[in-house]
Amino acid sequence: MSGIYIHIPFCKQACHYCDFHFSTSMGKKEAMVSALRKELLLRKEEFKDEVVETIYFGGGTPSVLDAEEIQFIIDSVYDNYKVAGNPEITLEANPDDLSTEKIMALFKSPVNRLSIGIQSFFEEDLKLMNRAHNASEAENCIREASAYFDNISIDLIYGIPDMDNERWKHNIEKALSLGIPHISSYALTVEPQTALASFIKKGLVKNVDDEVAQAHFYILSETLEAAGFESYEISNFGKPGYFSKNNTAYWQQKKYLGIGPSAHSYDGVRRGWNINNNPKYLRAIEKGELPMETETLSVTDTYNEYVMTGLRTIWGVSLSRIASDFGKNYREYALIQAEKHLRDELLHIEGDTLLTTKKGRFLADGLASDLFMVNLG
Ligand code: SF4
Repeated sequence: MSGIYIHIPFCKQACHYCDFHFSTSMGKKEAMVSALRKELLLRKEEFKDEVVETIYFGGGTPSVLDAEEIQFIIDSVYDNYKVAGNPEITLEANPDDLSTEKIMALFKSPVNRLSIGIQSFFEEDLKLMNRAHNASEAENCIREASAYFDNISIDLIYGIPDMDNERWKHNIEKALSLGIPHISSYALTVEPQTALASFIKKGLVKNVDDEVAQAHFYILSETLEAAGFESYEISNFGKPGYFSKNNTAYWQQKKYLGIGPSAHSYDGVRRGWNINNNPKYLRAIEKGELPMETETLSVTDTYNEYVMTGLRTIWGVSLSRIASDFGKNYREYALIQAEKHLRDELLHIEGDTLLTTKKGRFLADGLASDLFMVNLG
């Protein structure tokens, strides 16, 4: 199973917390769409033995593209790659782009999954984060999109300054009342060099509080599990049959090709990342060059990534796979490092698999880093 990720590096306005790669100037949108097609052509040999099962438009804000531009890029994938019979094709979309006409045009395109950046149903949260949409657009676009799309995911952010447990519960309940089958939910993090970091430093906005975020996480898990969702990854909850195939493939170390500025790729051995600068990306692609750097992952890097992604998911970390793929010393090391957390009931072992417990789930990243191997090559 392999996937193609396409990064659309444009947003209407900058959300205060965001450090992704995007530009708010749309002047080069057309040139970018042509360049994405050209990169797909330039890199087709990398995937000559692969069957593409997922295509994912991420960003930035892919919904700033019109349906014809999206169709043009998908056609470019089909023209240059072997694509499975019924691929999952996801488009990240923001509510303010999802007019009735846009939803209908997308419905007629091959896109079959929408991932909508709702973040909150409350005006005050949306304002604080400088989202481009308002609360009524958040709700209305879901109602309208649901008339055409069955496979819809929404993003929600918790741990927002001043968001109490009640407001957070209300956000989750609102999502449930709208019949959404998949929710991705992340704690608000304060990235350096963002407007949010600077507001907090100046005392204009309260800092985020890890304990509040942790409480919100447990409210989220319990409420969604009670409503029939599976928490298949720490930030992702889906009804049976609605897990994101694209994200699951990342977590299971499948190959993917990242197209567009700042997009990352993985071929099973090497990681690559494209330059995160739109003009430089466009110039390189125009000359037929790939603006990409790569690194070959060491056994240690691959082990660390496996532990990191595995502990975040319901599939956990297979101890026999650690022994067979990385060596018995890695398996022993993992078990020694896990000992304390097994005693504290943050981790547990089921058969051959090391997993986080309910109590340990929120702490998965920290638990994984305790199992990391450093520089053994
Ligand atoms: S829309 Fe998404 S990518 Fe764009 S600034 Fe906001 S959070 Fe970042």
